Amino acid sequence: MRYDAIVAGASFAGLAVAGEIKGKVLLIDKNDIGNRPTSACTTLYSVIQKLGCEDSTLSVFEKVGFHTAFGYTEYKALEPFCTFDYGKFCRELAKHFDGEFLRANIKGIKGNTVLTDKGDFYSDCIADCTGWRAKLGTDLEPAFVDREAMFFGLQTEVDCEQDDVLRFFWDSRIVEFGYAWVFPAGKRTRFGLGSCGNKKSLKKNLARFVSSYGKEINGLYGGFIPYKVRKPVVGKIFLAGDSAGHAWPLTGEGARQAIYFGQRCGKIIQKVIDKKVSLDEGLEEYANFVKKHRYYPGFLLCLQQVFFKMPNWGVELAAKLFGRGRAINFVQGKYKNGLSCDFLKGKAK
Ligand SMILES: Cc1cc2nc3c(=O)[nH]c(=O)nc-3n(C[C@H](O)[C@H](O)[C@H](O)COP(=O)(O)OP(=O)(O)OC[C@H]3O[C@@H](n4cnc5c(N)ncnc54)[C@H](O)[C@@H]3O)c2cc1C
Repeated sequence: MRYDAIVAGASFAGLAVAGEIKGKVLLIDKNDIGNRPTSACTTLYSVIQKLGCEDSTLSVFEKVGFHTAFGYTEYKALEPFCTFDYGKFCRELAKHFDGEFLRANIKGIKGNTVLTDKGDFYSDCIADCTGWRAKLGTDLEPAFVDREAMFFGLQTEVDCEQDDVLRFFWDSRIVEFGYAWVFPAGKRTRFGLGSCGNKKSLKKNLARFVSSYGKEINGLYGGFIPYKVRKPVVGKIFLAGDSAGHAWPLTGEGARQAIYFGQRCGKIIQKVIDKKVSLDEGLEEYANFVKKHRYYPGFLLCLQQVFFKMPNWGVELAAKLFGRGRAINFVQGKYKNGLSCDFLKGKAK
């Protein structure tokens, strides 16, 4: 079957790409939309507002807390953060999409044909939004995924007393080469650990961390986050989100990034479909757009290399130096503007 565009993967990036394209579009995922969260689903509240997905909001935070082995620093966020419900958010984003959704397992790609367990589908415009595995990109270039450049996050969600602070724990006694988090989400709280180091001990360490709050692990979910930018174009296909390594190092955030690059990718694909540019020109335009955004993740990667290896006293010193007054406002300003989400789309029709 032939389509104007095929989008592989229907999470943050895939929904953002597909929502920008009008025509005969096929969106494929092995799960139903919004059914398999991997993320702690925390982002700037303004992103949720710009996308018109406020109904998915669970908790909003004006304060961020930074726990170290020696102390605690709390600061007022320059703009509020929020936790949101993955399923509701994805279903809201999906309202922008009026093509065809297929639940199928993508096996690979041959020329312009996407191969799945439900049949093969053809298009000139193909976007790989299948997350860190980059299913199509890897099929074209087997060495595409650098398994060394991965952060692994593991999370559980339990009933807990409510809190109005988004809390981070930077303490090697809890987790090495990474950090832990406690994110209230409505009536529940998301406890997680993320690390670039040994993944084997994460489950045990998470159980211990959760028990320090008098709670027990209640189901686990998580996965890898690539923290190095990859190529946004492989062969003749576009890649957006984790498949293109768009998540930020150090913070491990990738939802807003996946949507940001996904929307631009979708807009460019639309120009190709409308024959305003050729496919090659579209691929080049997208690659150049992504390239323009390489400096901030590069800066965060340098910080990650320093912070993840710092002894606990160094982390405490950094928290005290940068966690107050003008310094924290400067850091937050850079964080917010590192990715201007001005063109994020408003409410779905
Ligand atoms: C524990 C954890 C906590 C996190 N917390 C946050 C956070 O708080 N805030 C934040 O911004 N980011 C967070 N992240 C990162 C964020 O989740 C990712 O960066 C983001 O999900 C990337 O979106 P994506 O659409 O590119 O990929 P994904 O969300 O990984 O989506 C890929 C999609 O492709 C589908 N797919 C994959 N392979 C196939 C196949 N073969 N056939 C069919 N379908 C396929 C999957 O089912 C999935 O729907 C976290 C990550 C983890 C692991």
